Amino acid sequence: MNFVADLHIHSYLSRATSKQMNLENLYKWAQLKGITVIGTGDFTHPKWYAELQDKLEPAEPGLFRLKEEFCVEADREVPDSCRSTVRFVLSAEISTIYRKNDGTRKIHSIILAPDLPAAGKLNAALQEVGNLKADGRPILGLDCKLLLQKALDASPDNVLIPAHIWTPHFSVFGAASGFDSLEDCFDELTPQIFALETGLSSDPPMNWTLSQLDDYVLVSNSDAHSPSKLAREANLFSCELSYYEMMRALREKDQQGFLGTLEFFPEEGKYHYDGHRACKVCLTPEETRAHEGRCPQCGRSVTIGVMHRVSALADRQKGFRTKHAFGFESLIPLVEILSEIHGVGVGSKKVTNAYMQLLERFGSELFILRSLPVKELEQGATLLLAQAIQKVRDRQISVSPGYDGEYGRVQVFEPEERQAGNVQLSLF
Ligand SMILES: [Zn+2]
Ligand SMILES: [Zn+2]
Repeated sequence: MNFVADLHIHSYLSRATSKQMNLENLYKWAQLKGITVIGTGDFTHPKWYAELQDKLEPAEPGLFRLKEEFCVEADREVPDSCRSTVRFVLSAEISTIYRKNDGTRKIHSIILAPDLPAAGKLNAALQEVGNLKADGRPILGLDCKLLLQKALDASPDNVLIPAHIWTPHFSVFGAASGFDSLEDCFDELTPQIFALETGLSSDPPMNWTLSQLDDYVLVSNSDAHSPSKLAREANLFSCELSYYEMMRALREKDQQGFLGTLEFFPEEGKYHYDGHRACKVCLTPEETRAHEGRCPQCGRSVTIGVMHRVSALADRQKGFRTKHAFGFESLIPLVEILSEIHGVGVGSKKVTNAYMQLLERFGSELFILRSLPVKELEQGATLLLAQAIQKVRDRQISVSPGYDGEYGRVQVFEPEERQAGNVQLSLF
């Protein structure tokens, strides 16, 4: 069975996260998006853990379903065209801050667990280290390697995946507080790591320029803090619905069981290039070097982005493709495409209505973006959308890169195309 899995998300109990991130909405939005397996996020939080105990029930091995009684209301808001199976996998993200090798390290890790006891046992161990109640993504003064050890002690089937490995401030390779190699972080436990989350600001080809990553499978997740951001990045599996089968496919880099990832255009990520947000200064790695790491406006140090960091650690030329590379598809969220077509904000009523109408008519968002024959859109009011989706599939779009926490801006249409489009649009 082919299915999409988004394994890193946050509940409403994480800081700066939408109140809408509860299990019912995750269940509903997974269907709207076209996700089959979704991470619960935040299982380390006692309140969320209690909700998981209360509202989920075991389904296939290592996976859970929302109990029927909690589905009823959510199902009313899912169009028939999108109705599908949703399974949950227990997931959490932990922020570790500690000193190692003369540096302060700040690293985020995703933990996946096969069952509630495996998650609960880890929670009990982490409770000794710090406060799990303060944040759905707890901050612990714990060596990341010890976190891995504790996760494995709690259950050998628990899995640690280094999160968004290139983000400057909170990742294993981050420019500000990471390491230069996985071995520096995990020492003799490094072989326990088999997957790395590439994050929004990098894509597989960027990661292929580092031979030290060849042995790892690259995964992608949305890290969503609100329902509409789910599946902006995700994983494509082709195996039985089972936690153990999914992990086996990743561990063994099984090209039959794991097909690759759905990706943001990395330029759209908010740390792709270097820069200083307060001065609206965005710099390429070369420009940063020419300015000796200083903002040309104010003289402060710029935030070193993902591209810069990747190129600093790369030992291969750009464009290199590893032999066992998995496939990937780059997507732009449907609301962003609709926003550009209609010339109004992504959160506007017009975009929201158009979005829901499209889903009702054709199916889930990922189906529309990835698989819907554009022919079906080439009539009436959706002609421009057909062109836009084809352009994204052909990678014929432009993006002004993100930097220092500012998202990049995607442009599907050139100004002349948009003008021609507006004429067509005005006909409807
Ligand atoms: Zn994180
Ligand atoms: Zn500045």
